[in-house]
Formats: sequence, C-alpha cells, structure tokens
Amino acid sequence: MKKIAVIGAGTMGNGIAHVFIQNGYHVNLIDISEDALKQAVATIGKNMDRMIAKEKITEKDKNDSLGRLKTSTAMKSGLAQAELVVEAATENIDLKLQLFKQMDEFAPEGCILATNTSSISITKMAAATGRPDKVIGMHFMNPVPVMKLVEVIRGYATSNSVTEVIMDLSQKLGKVPTEVNDYPGFVANRILMPMINEAIHTLHEGVAGVEEIDTVMKLGMAHPMGPLQLADFIGLDVCLSIMRVLHDGFGLDKYAPSPLLVNMVMAGKLGAKGGEGFYTHTPGSKELVISDNFKK
Ligand code: NAD
Repeated sequence: MKKIAVIGAGTMGNGIAHVFIQNGYHVNLIDISEDALKQAVATIGKNMDRMIAKEKITEKDKNDSLGRLKTSTAMKSGLAQAELVVEAATENIDLKLQLFKQMDEFAPEGCILATNTSSISITKMAAATGRPDKVIGMHFMNPVPVMKLVEVIRGYATSNSVTEVIMDLSQKLGKVPTEVNDYPGFVANRILMPMINEAIHTLHEGVAGVEEIDTVMKLGMAHPMGPLQLADFIGLDVCLSIMRVLHDGFGLDKYAPSPLLVNMVMAGKLGAKGGEGFYTHTPGSKELVISDNFKK
C-alpha cells in the first residue's frame, strides 16, 4: 500500500498527511477549502523544520516528503487511485455519512475506508457504504507527528484482514496501534471525557478551584496537564459533544454532561481556540492564566 488519500486538511488531517509522507507514502490531501489546503502544507513544512532543528530529519527528508504530497479540492479524482482513504473532516455525523457514501462511490473497490472520528459510530458510517468489512477507525491523537497512539477501532462488520492491514500500517508509521471495538467513545474518550466532566462537576460544586483541581491531577497522578487545561485544549464544544455521545449511547446518568460545561459552551467559551475557557489564552503565550470567571 503506497497511495493514501486524506480527507480534511485541518488540525488532524495535516498531521496525518505529515506522518504518511514522512514514512514514504504518497498522499493526496483533499479539502473543500483551498485556504485549509494552503495552511496545511505550510504547517507541515513548519513542523518538519522543527524536526530538522532537532536533528530528527534532514532537509532532504523534508523535500522528499513534501514531494510526495498533493492537494486537491476534487473528491472524485482525488480518490480514484487510493488504496486507503483516511477521513479527517469536521466532526459532524451528517457530513461523515455523506462523505462515506462519496468515498464508497469514488474509491477503487479494494480500497480501505478509515476515519479519524473521535466519537461517531464506525458501524454507522460503514452501513452507509457497500463495503462495511473495509471500514475501520484509525484514531490518531493530537499532535499526530508527536503522539504514539493509534486507536484502531473495529466496526461491527470490519474484517480481520482489514484490521491486520491497518495495525501493520500504523506500526510502519512508527505508531503503537491498539485494537478496540466500536462502542460509544471507544476506549480513549470513554475514559478521558468522564474524567474531564468530573473535574468540571468538582469545580461547579465548589470543592476546589481551577488551579487546585489541575494541580492535584498533575502532581498527584503525574498527568502532564490538568483535566481543565486539557478540556480547554481539546475544545469545550468537543468535550460536550463527546459526553452527549456517551450519554445517548449508554443511556446512563453517570455520563450526563456537567451543567457548567453546557453553560460555558452556550456562552461561546470554547477553550483555547476561542481565547477563553477555564483559562484565558493569548496566542504565542504559554503562561497559564485562570479565566476571570474562575478567579477567587
Ligand atoms: P478541523 O476543524 O481542524 O478540520 C476539519 C477540516 O475538514 C477543515 O479543514 C474543513 O474545511 C474540512 N472539511 C469540512 N467538510 C469537508 C468536506 N465535505 N470535504 C473535505 N473536507 C471537509 O478538525 P480536526 O480537529 O482536524 O478534526 C478532524 C477529525 O479528527 C474529527 O472527526 C475529529 O473528531 C477528529 N479528531 C480530532 C482531534 C483533535 O484533537 N482535534 C483528535 C482526534 C480526532
């Protein structure tokens, strides 16, 4: 397998394209937005420059890698030669179902259709295609070039041979693939999101402040980042939508999203990407400043 199509050139799509081209694969990166494609190529170049500075790759590696990258806004021609498609477009179920129909229509018969979704059912997307045995989750973590894990998610109908191909391929990308089954939140978000949600409940109930909660989890549990800081980094809207997937999927009260999380999203406080969440975020600054709303 050498020819990969990546759909969606945002945060995850550019990282996924980066690791494939750096490992010798040819990538066609597809997005509806020309700007997103231009931005993605610039980001990959910048991230590779950082790797050159750390002597992890050479200038020649960078040029060779970028030589294997093509970009396109045309889905049909972009998928015509693909042996694997990795879908990394916006997390929206209607969009993903429509994309999977198109991927099924335009990609060659034997092509594997993978998705980087954080929370949408693989089985449901597979059912929108005529090849559910060849649909699989390939859940990379952010930032993709740095994070080792790929959560490989088997849908209800995913075949053993397709799972083996994707496990093997992930290893060839220098990642550690971990096989899980398709249930709400898979493994990563089923465990991570309730922890973040509980941290927000703890704040909301006044048990402790933002700084105290994050300090307990950082220093007590050796987490590199506290759960509230991590929630800001992921995006509070994303956290809320994953809690809703868990709540709907299992029908259990323990997954009900914290009312404070719901309120913050309604108020447009989405975390780092919007400049404010539990912390106030200033572009270019790494200083942790607690949001005025949570200052004591
Ligand atoms: P993003 O918003 O940064 O990028 C999404 C891209 O998809 C945009 O460039 C947009 O133009 C493009 N897009 C939208 N509709 C399209 C279409 N019809 N055809 C082609 N491109 C289209 O989003 P992201 O954070 O990169 O997330 C992408 C996927 O990865 C989502 O499913 C998300 O749940 C998942 N994911 C995200 C993270 C994360 O930390 N950001 C981590 C793991 C998984």
